[in-house]
Amino acid sequence: MDEFELIQGYFTDIGALPLCPDLARSLRLGIGDDCAVLRLPPSYDLCFSMDTLVAGVHFPQDAPAQRLGYRALAVNLSDLAAMGAMPLCFTLALTLPAFDAHWLASFAAGLDGCARRFGIKLVGGDTTRGPLSITIEVKGAIPEGRGLRRTGAQPGDKICVTGTLGDAHAALKWLDGSIAGTQEANPQKMACDHLIERYYEPVPRVREGQLLREYASACIDVSDGLLADLGHILKASGVGAIIRDESIPLSDAIRCLESDPLPLALTGGDDYELCFTITPSKLDMLRQAVPELGVAVIGTIIREQGMVRVDAQGNHHRVTGRLGYKHFE
Ligand code: ADP
Ligand code: MG
Repeated sequence: MDEFELIQGYFTDIGALPLCPDLARSLRLGIGDDCAVLRLPPSYDLCFSMDTLVAGVHFPQDAPAQRLGYRALAVNLSDLAAMGAMPLCFTLALTLPAFDAHWLASFAAGLDGCARRFGIKLVGGDTTRGPLSITIEVKGAIPEGRGLRRTGAQPGDKICVTGTLGDAHAALKWLDGSIAGTQEANPQKMACDHLIERYYEPVPRVREGQLLREYASACIDVSDGLLADLGHILKASGVGAIIRDESIPLSDAIRCLESDPLPLALTGGDDYELCFTITPSKLDMLRQAVPELGVAVIGTIIREQGMVRVDAQGNHHRVTGRLGYKHFE
């Protein structure tokens, strides 16, 4: 099978058109020509972002292909979510060590599952041979000038997060299968399966991000760990933060498996929840407008730069040192 047959066989019909008809019509040309073509309606901004997953760095060499396909797109969609963007289309640069029909079919199925779930269409890419690596560029649309930036946090704003933190990082400990591999169902195994699912199949907060456009003052997705990513908002906005350990949202699963889950929740990456800041009155409005949107208030933005943690005993700790995952350290 050559590269053209491979594309034809696995990648020509991945994903679905955006739900919004205006945006669906904007995809003028997809896979098969030299370029894809997009014509956005005039009242939208185009936003785009790219993420690469490298075998052995971002996922274990033998990771299941279907889950990789899902995850590769999900982590990119999370960046669109953090801007409050509506998904439009994506391109895929795939480097494969060898042609493996079973692997490709599984990868394509995972990718397609995620793409259909969030209404985004694969419109092009590149296929090469080499060490396994997956690069996706996503494109999304935002009503003109309304993207959620990192720069808008103000003293007095509440700091909030969606979902729970630390699960994906905790999962890495259990991926060797010591508990997940056991047959009998018990609370530990169920918790372990939940964490592993959170790692492989993060749910990008696409809908939540779009809702937050009307309310939040700044937003980021938690990919490198809460402290690191909140740190980006603080730096971009020129402010500081106080956060309370006791208000960090933890899953039942992580509580079941970890005696001390807090460090994982503060510094573990890969959760792809949203961390955002919001004025107290807008937070009330958000809760009234969207009661089902579960958000935890974990702290407050302050004028003095830097970050302070308040522990369960009420002691204050200045946050310093290594905060999250960095590639070049
Ligand atoms: P070119 O030589 O012009 O780069 P390619 O042979 O790389 O063209 O690709 C042919 C068509 O298939 C293009 O439309 C390209 O966008 C698409 N394509 C290539 N690889 C992929 C892929 N992995 N996923 C989706 N589309 C792809
Ligand atoms: Mg090419």
